[in-house]
Amino acid sequence: MNYLKSFFRFMQPGEYRKEVYLRIYQQMHRIYHGLMALILAYECVMLAVMAGRPGGPFLHGRRTAYVCCYLVLIVSTALFLLLHRRMWKTGTLSMRRYYRLLHAYVVVLTAWAVAISLNDQLGGNGLTVYTYVLLGTALFAMLPPWKSVLLYGLSFLALNLLLPFFPWPSGLDQTFNNLTNSLFVSLFAIFLSIYFYKSQIALKTDEMIIERQYQEIAEKNQALHEEIMIDALTKLYNRRYLDLVVEKRFRAQQRRKQALACLMLDLDHFKDYNDQYGHPAGDVLLCRLSSLFRDLPAKEQADVIRYGGEEFVVFLYGQDAREAGRLAQFLVDSVRGLQIPAAAGSPYVTISAGVCLLDPIPPEEDSVHILISCADTALYQAKNQGRNRVSFYREE
Ligand code: GH3
Ligand code: MG
Ligand code: MG
Repeated sequence: MNYLKSFFRFMQPGEYRKEVYLRIYQQMHRIYHGLMALILAYECVMLAVMAGRPGGPFLHGRRTAYVCCYLVLIVSTALFLLLHRRMWKTGTLSMRRYYRLLHAYVVVLTAWAVAISLNDQLGGNGLTVYTYVLLGTALFAMLPPWKSVLLYGLSFLALNLLLPFFPWPSGLDQTFNNLTNSLFVSLFAIFLSIYFYKSQIALKTDEMIIERQYQEIAEKNQALHEEIMIDALTKLYNRRYLDLVVEKRFRAQQRRKQALACLMLDLDHFKDYNDQYGHPAGDVLLCRLSSLFRDLPAKEQADVIRYGGEEFVVFLYGQDAREAGRLAQFLVDSVRGLQIPAAAGSPYVTISAGVCLLDPIPPEEDSVHILISCADTALYQAKNQGRNRVSFYREE
């Protein structure tokens, strides 16, 4: 009982309603077109066969009725195809309008099946057309449960109320046969229609939920991936970025035989600064200088990384030695230009810079760390030469 209750419950596709219907439509509309075209072609052939039979298409009432039925179906199918094409072409296709059109067509088709079946009775034929039309439409019409109950219930009633007026030629009483058979076919059509309607909606809804969840996971993954490459204090890139991204760019530059420069920057006497102003003030200073480095002029072709404590590396892609030296000097001057009071011993906070350039990157080098190590050597020289200056790496 519970199963039946849940089966007949008038299910709604919930928050995804519109998209679910659109997806079902997109998947089915080719099938609909194929089916309509098939019906159209078949009815035309039937019309031609009927017209070609001895005596012509209007030999007697029954034959005339068939011809009329075929014509009605041809016209309504062609109309359906035409209207649908127009909706599609002009882009005015709204799901509600489309399904209404389709359902109107299914009503015509079912009424047509009743009419043909009644006419068939006069020739001593059974309910074949009624059976295949009802079961066929139940599979593709996407009728909501209430519509299928109404449509197939009414067609059953219409058929059985009209059947007594269409007796078998031999005088056989087929009332009971027709009643039980058409009842079963109608109930089966209702069952199939509801089942397919519900399973299509459930399938598409699940599909959408999975897609959305996958998208959310991918977005979160991407955010996480970016987050782990950012230094928490300065918001500059960190060592992981160096390993994951700069290494790849190093190899790309190597392949293209292009230059790569590395600037290593280090705060002068930062330990003294921390000792005098305290660690939190040291952090503030690091952040202030980081934002200066982040906004450096050659931003588009540069990566700025917090390498460790108060050390930063800047990678410049495709720049020559002059450009790299100019940028390093610019940064050294800019920090000094901020005139931030330093710890006792020197008036303002300063940085030193070591520069190394590979132009092009030799094919035997396999890591960006070669550049870092050379820039570090140059930085060491700058420190030794008195700090607040730029030094170039020169091979001994
Ligand atoms: P030099 O001019 O030779 O570079 O001297 P220095 O004092 O800057 O260098 P040293 O390596 O002796 O000291 C670096 C200091 O940087 C020591 C450490 O406490 C400080 N430091 C490293 N990371 C942080 C940080 O995240 N915040 C703060 N406030 N200080 C840091
Ligand atoms: Mg230092
Ligand atoms: Mg240092």
